[in-house]
Amino acid sequence: MKNSEALFQRAKEVMPGGVNSPVRAFRSVGMTPRFIDRAKGNRIYDVEGNEYIDYVGSWGPMILGHAEENTLRAVKEAADKGLSFGACTEAEVEAAELITSALPHIEMIRMVNSGTEAVMSAVRVARGFTGRSKLIKFEGCYHGHSDSMLVKAGSGAMTFGSPDSAGVTKGAAEDTLLAEYNNLESVERLFDENRGEIACVIVEPVAANMGVVPPEEGFLEGLRELCDRNGSLLIFDEVITGFRLAFGGAAEYFGVAPDLATYGKIIGGGMPVGAYGGRKEIMERVSPSGNVYQAGTLSGNPIAMAAGLATLKTLKENPDIYTKINEMGAYLAGELRRVSGLTVNNVGSLLCLYYTDKLVRNYADAVKSNTDRFSGSFGKLLEKGIYVAPSQFEAMFLNACFTGEDLDYTVKVYEEIFEKEK
Ligand SMILES: *Cc1c(COP(=O)(O)O)cnc(C)c1O
Repeated sequence: MKNSEALFQRAKEVMPGGVNSPVRAFRSVGMTPRFIDRAKGNRIYDVEGNEYIDYVGSWGPMILGHAEENTLRAVKEAADKGLSFGACTEAEVEAAELITSALPHIEMIRMVNSGTEAVMSAVRVARGFTGRSKLIKFEGCYHGHSDSMLVKAGSGAMTFGSPDSAGVTKGAAEDTLLAEYNNLESVERLFDENRGEIACVIVEPVAANMGVVPPEEGFLEGLRELCDRNGSLLIFDEVITGFRLAFGGAAEYFGVAPDLATYGKIIGGGMPVGAYGGRKEIMERVSPSGNVYQAGTLSGNPIAMAAGLATLKTLKENPDIYTKINEMGAYLAGELRRVSGLTVNNVGSLLCLYYTDKLVRNYADAVKSNTDRFSGSFGKLLEKGIYVAPSQFEAMFLNACFTGEDLDYTVKVYEEIFEKEK
């Protein structure tokens, strides 16, 4: 019989840390990762055959649940026609039309292969468009692992206590200015100190890589105004929030339109897809219509487009999915607050229980939570069949397959854990 322990031993010999992405290694909770065999709906199954209620959802993409039938069918049909052509296909046009017709602030869109690539490219476009070099990002916001974004980058980097990666040159990081989330004054100060030099402000409209930190009333509106006043572009990194809070993402949910937005996760329906888009005059600067170069051998891959399109179509045709998962998010957050007495932040179907009873409204607040307590309960949750991300600084993700029963079972398990801790 296969087992996770043995597989991880083998993995560690041939893969750095035994993984292809750091947080998967369960390091911050001091455990061996479960090796997953399959998943269906909101359940995942490890190679030992254990079943878990899955609050990770592949870190966001699986909003319809795992192995969703329409998506699987579309992938199988596309696969039969060939895996990649490196040439134009109808599915790419359809995907771009679907998105641009539903999102008023996205007039043109370019598909890439990951959220990292989407952000890296959007930042390049912002610099090309404005002719300026500097950018403002927020402490604790994660925007993928491109060099200029690996400064106080939240989640993985936060858990490992090495927010600045080795191998990122001073030059790559020096144009990245850091502001505090939910603090407009900190942004205004940077604009004042760098007059006419800021190409863009990039923000997670809901910060979901330092737990879940909602934007306070007026924060996103204030960023919009500061960017307008200073001739800088506002980039929403909607890699998590896009197609999750609402079909139109955070821009629709909060009613603030960015100049450029980046997508990933849900947009690929579980396949590796990212995208960036925005107003026509900006996006037309991208090669080959403009002089900002960006390309990709597998970009707009037919299988990936099939999965993404099937997922997006289902979401667009069933807006009740958002009502359902957002209501469940509010319910679960309320119940977890009740049984824990701790801070539970929630926006839509994203939530985070922080091991602190203080408000969490930025990075400095988030890091004050008690990660030892988090690790303790992580193991107990896993034992009881509840799979949350193995880090305090990740969100819990709900999907369309969750039921009230799943939520109530989860609350009961948390309640037992907190009772015992008393
Ligand atoms: C996951 C994530 C990214 C990076 O996407 P990858 O597909 O992992 O490269 C960028 N921005 C945000 C907000 C994310 O959550």
